[in-house]
Amino acid sequence: MIDGTPPPAPKRQRKGPRPKHIPVRTCAVCRDQSTKRALTRIVRQHDGQVIVDLTGRLNGRGTYICDKPKCREIAANSEVLAKALNATITPELREQLRQMSRETTLSVESAATENSEVTE
Ligand SMILES: [Zn+2]
Repeated sequence: MIDGTPPPAPKRQRKGPRPKHIPVRTCAVCRDQSTKRALTRIVRQHDGQVIVDLTGRLNGRGTYICDKPKCREIAANSEVLAKALNATITPELREQLRQMSRETTLSVESAATENSEVTE
């Protein structure tokens, strides 16, 4: 008996190169525009928590800061992000931004990995 179930239609997946569309974002600090790649996304999540979105894919309201150490520093020490996102910037986030600004400054230096192993 043939019940007439049609064979699954083959799904076509587009894998070719994307059309020339480079997303441009504005740094919340210096207002410079650059491509998304050069910017760090800061996102306010549903619960109001503001975090650095390293994947660039988190849901929520996002703003961007560029990779200039100065901008990260200003973002860490001012209310620029708080205003852009209408949220509170936690001390943890500020510290993270400060670290990031240091990382960009010291990018040439070998990152000294501090292994603070817990010895009991
Ligand atoms: Zn900037």
